[in-house]
Amino acid sequence: MSNRTNGQTAPVADVQLPHVNIDDLIVCLKYYVDEENAHIRIKDLAICAACDPKPCLAFCPAHVFETDRHGRMMVGYQACIECGSCRVACPFRNVDWRLPRGGHGVAYKYG
Ligand code: SF4
Ligand code: SF4
Repeated sequence: MSNRTNGQTAPVADVQLPHVNIDDLIVCLKYYVDEENAHIRIKDLAICAACDPKPCLAFCPAHVFETDRHGRMMVGYQACIECGSCRVACPFRNVDWRLPRGGHGVAYKYG
């Protein structure tokens, strides 16, 4: 199978990926929330205030990053599924992300 674009033929993969609903996956997780220590922090809120658009609002699958009604960035670290995206995808490297302390974080439920 192929696609023809600008006179050139490009191969097209003849496969269909299964539909994945991230919300269905998230319900398979168990959270061991560390109430005393946030493993994700914003380094400088002023940088977030000037960041436009704010890509973290879209790339975080758990919607950890939200803005309040004043546009101030809030971090609901308790919902983090530790995918690590915000470590590399914040264009200003403005997210201080560490692994949760031992005994905390997410775990998959089985059965
Ligand atoms: S992408 Fe980074 S700098 Fe921009 S709003 Fe989100 S955390 Fe702040
Ligand atoms: S590690 Fe993933 S789930 Fe956690 S805050 Fe960053 S982007 Fe969101």
